[in-house]
Amino acid sequence: MFTLKTTTINIEPIINYLVASLFFLILIGIAPPAFSQVNSPSLFNENVSQLLQLTLQRPADAIDKAQDELAITTSRQRKSELHFVLARAYSELLLPLRAQEEAEKAQALMDDDSSIEFQHFLTLSIAEANALSGLADDIEGVVKRELTWARKQHNYNIQAYALRVAGLVQLTLNSSDKALSRFQEGYALAQSHVIRLKPADFAYWIAMVYENRGEPKLAIPYFKEAQGYYQKQALSVGKVRTEIGLGKALIALGQTNDGLLVLRDAAELALEIQDLQGVANSYQHIAEQLILRNEAEQAEPFLQDALIIFNDGHNPFMQIAVLLALAEVSLQTDTSTDAKAYLHRALELAEGDSFLAQRIEINRKMARVLAKQADYPAAYDLMVNNATAQGKLFKERNSKRLLRLKTEFEVEQQQIQNALLTEQNLRQRAEIRSRQETQKYGFVLIFLLIVITLLLLWLYIKSKRHRQRLEALANEDMLTTLLTRRKALDLIDQQLKLAQRHNETISLAILDLDHFKQINDDCGHQTGDHVLRAFGILATNTFRSTDILGRYGGEEFLFAFPHTSIDQVEEMLQKFSQTVKSIPQQIDCPQLNTSVSIGVIEAREKLSTSELIALADEALYQAKVAGRDRIVRYQPTRAEK
Ligand code: GH3
Ligand code: MG
Ligand code: MG
Repeated sequence: MFTLKTTTINIEPIINYLVASLFFLILIGIAPPAFSQVNSPSLFNENVSQLLQLTLQRPADAIDKAQDELAITTSRQRKSELHFVLARAYSELLLPLRAQEEAEKAQALMDDDSSIEFQHFLTLSIAEANALSGLADDIEGVVKRELTWARKQHNYNIQAYALRVAGLVQLTLNSSDKALSRFQEGYALAQSHVIRLKPADFAYWIAMVYENRGEPKLAIPYFKEAQGYYQKQALSVGKVRTEIGLGKALIALGQTNDGLLVLRDAAELALEIQDLQGVANSYQHIAEQLILRNEAEQAEPFLQDALIIFNDGHNPFMQIAVLLALAEVSLQTDTSTDAKAYLHRALELAEGDSFLAQRIEINRKMARVLAKQADYPAAYDLMVNNATAQGKLFKERNSKRLLRLKTEFEVEQQQIQNALLTEQNLRQRAEIRSRQETQKYGFVLIFLLIVITLLLLWLYIKSKRHRQRLEALANEDMLTTLLTRRKALDLIDQQLKLAQRHNETISLAILDLDHFKQINDDCGHQTGDHVLRAFGILATNTFRSTDILGRYGGEEFLFAFPHTSIDQVEEMLQKFSQTVKSIPQQIDCPQLNTSVSIGVIEAREKLSTSELIALADEALYQAKVAGRDRIVRYQPTRAEK
């Protein structure tokens, strides 16, 4: 919990002037009728509640009782509550310094068990005492925080109390518009919720604002509302203060007799309840009226009584005000020595920056006294000095006002600039965000493109492989890995045409494994397959890659050798047919015999592939007939040649 700054130091003189004059105004008719119903059973025990109620009726009695109890109480919490009672009572008696002291004691004694609500009440209590002592500047922030807290928590009791203190602060700061709006808000809040502060409490304050503004006509109905309520509830302190305000308002409206009657009533009641400040205030106003009516002699006893009370309460503002009134009485009754004495006492009290305005007033009266005593040079000097002081005050007031305006202007400019900066900031952030988003989408797009490209590439490669596999399936004989009959015929066709166009040699051979049926029969079809596979491998390994090696069907093969003469082919095939005989060893079937019969032919002009094949087949037939395992060249007949 925070603590309040309580030391009074050199605040700017004009503030002090304003505070002083406001304080004066406040004291003229008032003390805040607060806490009409602070005795909520939920917050305090019954005893404390009763004491709090008593602070509103007979605050002096409440102080006595609370102090008696304090002497015998040991519980910290209880002590804290009793100090709070004392703070409230002093506040009611318009003794803010004592009220503050007690509230601070209550705060110091408070422990963690104390209810949050009690803590907030104490904070506001201290703030209120500060406001009444003229330290409004220091506590504006505190009260604002309390108000915000209460609004957030929907704690209407604290909210109402905070509104009251906030209004009081604004009043002390001379912002009557703001003060009025706070009190009006409090008034509405008290009307719509059953809370400790009542509409009457706010009505009193609203009336006070109007009165301070010089609008007594507007003030009176509110004063009357408050008066009626306090009367009905027997809340005497509130009634005294309201009646002082009402009396003043009536006098201001020209209804002097009614006003004086109300003031006398207030004084009587104040005496009855020992509300001495109330007594003194009433007396002072009554005296002022008597002086105005040139009944100064009647005014004097009221003023003397008021002075004793204010002296007792160490209330310099009010002491000075009464001394000035007494000096005026002395001037009117031609006892200027007395006047001088009053004014000297007033001057002693009016030391320090807070009392500049009072000092001017005192000196003005003093000059009148001196003039009356025919001490004109001294009177003149004093007037001159006073004029300088007044000029200073005026200047300070103006410079203060200028400073305030300048500050307000600067704050406004700063706010505008801040708003602009905020907007700019927001815009920049939005731009960055959109850029980032664009970038993000760009990345995503690129990523997607890459993925799609890779996918397409993969699909392409896959389909290509698939096609190649299909092609291979179509072109390659599964068992022997040689070309299929169709592919071999195609390629031979191409090569034959090329050879014929360029007049090149190309040779063709048809190969047929001998007694293959026998192999199948003897060793099984699977062994036959092994032989065929071994034959294919052997052929692939033996001949050139440019040679066309195809399986013509079954155990029959069709080979073509571009750019190769029949002699060369025969030689190659001779060697090849020898290696064919080694196949049984290769396939671990040594009891077998493998051989091949071959018919070869060299291509000549104008013969087609099928014609050539037919002729080679003829040579093969001859090889078979001649006993197999041999190569036979196609021999053209004489006629053919
Ligand atoms: P020849 O010496 O007169 O050529 O006698 P051959 O037994 O080799 O001739 P034939 O044409 O009478 O028989 C060929 C046999 O080859 C018949 C068939 O069962 C066998 N054959 C054809 N294709 C395959 C094959 O892919 N695998 C196996 N294991 N045998 C096959
Ligand atoms: Mg055969
Ligand atoms: Mg055959």
